[in-house]
Amino acid sequence: MEKLAIHGGKPARSKPLPPNYPGAVLMGAEEADAAAQVIHAQSPFRYYGPEPVFTVKALEDQISRDMNVPYVLGVTSCTAGLIIALKALGIGYGDKVIVPANTFIATAGAVICSNAVPVFVDVDDTLNMDPDDLERVMDDEVKAIIAVPILGNPCDMQRIMSFAEKHNIYVIEDVAQSCGIKHHGRYAGTIGHVGVLSFQMNKILTAGEGGAIITHSAQIFERAARYHDQGLFRDKQRYNLESSDEENAFAGQNYRMSEITGAVALAQWGKLNEILTNMKTHYTNIQQALSLEIPTLQFRRVIDTEGDIGSNLGMILPTKQMAELFTDALNAENINTAILYNGKPVYMNPQIFHQRTAEKHNFPFDFKFKHAVEYTEEMCPRAADLIARTVYLPISPILTEADTSEIIAGIIKVYAAVSSA
Ligand SMILES: *Cc1c(COP(=O)(O)O)cnc(C)c1O
Repeated sequence: MEKLAIHGGKPARSKPLPPNYPGAVLMGAEEADAAAQVIHAQSPFRYYGPEPVFTVKALEDQISRDMNVPYVLGVTSCTAGLIIALKALGIGYGDKVIVPANTFIATAGAVICSNAVPVFVDVDDTLNMDPDDLERVMDDEVKAIIAVPILGNPCDMQRIMSFAEKHNIYVIEDVAQSCGIKHHGRYAGTIGHVGVLSFQMNKILTAGEGGAIITHSAQIFERAARYHDQGLFRDKQRYNLESSDEENAFAGQNYRMSEITGAVALAQWGKLNEILTNMKTHYTNIQQALSLEIPTLQFRRVIDTEGDIGSNLGMILPTKQMAELFTDALNAENINTAILYNGKPVYMNPQIFHQRTAEKHNFPFDFKFKHAVEYTEEMCPRAADLIARTVYLPISPILTEADTSEIIAGIIKVYAAVSSA
């Protein structure tokens, strides 16, 4: 057997893979020129200035056309977008929101910062929310579900939507990690009542920071626009939505997107198809080769192969110890892989697990729920098991054929060593 790089052997690749920033690695003249135009116009604010370029408006219109959704609102981040979405739906103190056990902390944090309380559902072997576990956490205090397609692999939106319809609750799609993902041909984010995108550095497209809210509902859109902008609704004419401030304004935040962010995000948006096509091609090639060469290797289940954007290949190892050895050994081969979130469900983060907030009396956890909200280490056993032994290979849109061959050879070599250890 070939000696592993972690044991001093020759690495499968002589240098690391491209950094795992799919949008940022393709940044160039388009983003630079777009941002410069805003600066030269001395108009970095979206609603007015000496010579506004209206990049945020252009970004919103472009997303609206491409995703076939009438209302889009640029915001400062996906975390802000989730808070805005919850506020737009009228969710807050005394409400519960269902969150998957496998997600980034922002999903749960946004619920708490909106003054509601998260309750957690387990995952299945897709590593996304298990629709069969929804009933377990459902009660009449639950007002919404946040579905989160993790790393490019779609959620079972059909079953999540039918559960929500049956119980008359809302569905928010947190598409932060998976811009461009689809389920049954429809873009994730446009299937639930409201969807949220992210343009943070690690996401498919980036402006460093930024996000967008998408919805089919004029009413949700108006409330989102008002919450994100001090209660104002400056774009009523653009959307032909007459609405009086005297009757409809409420106290809000400032989560407005800057024109520089809008310029960069719009230039990135123009590269989305190229990014998705490249990722999917490499992902398919790598997965097909690995399936042939390593018949025992288990992949993350995908419910809709067409809709999967191929940004990450999830491999489920038999044990946590093997998964850790597999990642460490692959990293030594210059094939950078990762186990997400320290191998733990999101509720194991101390601020969530201990229900600790910045507020007095631990508001909003002080609400006297009819069915008390308690978190235990064992509450989502499949998430605790599967997150710890799922290894993700990020698929960069700028891989070459030589890169993919080296990745395949390296994984075959390391898997053989790890599974015989
Ligand atoms: C990154 C991420 C967020 C937060 O996005 P920001 O734009 O950084 O606020 C929310 N949810 C998920 C699932 C994420 O991965």
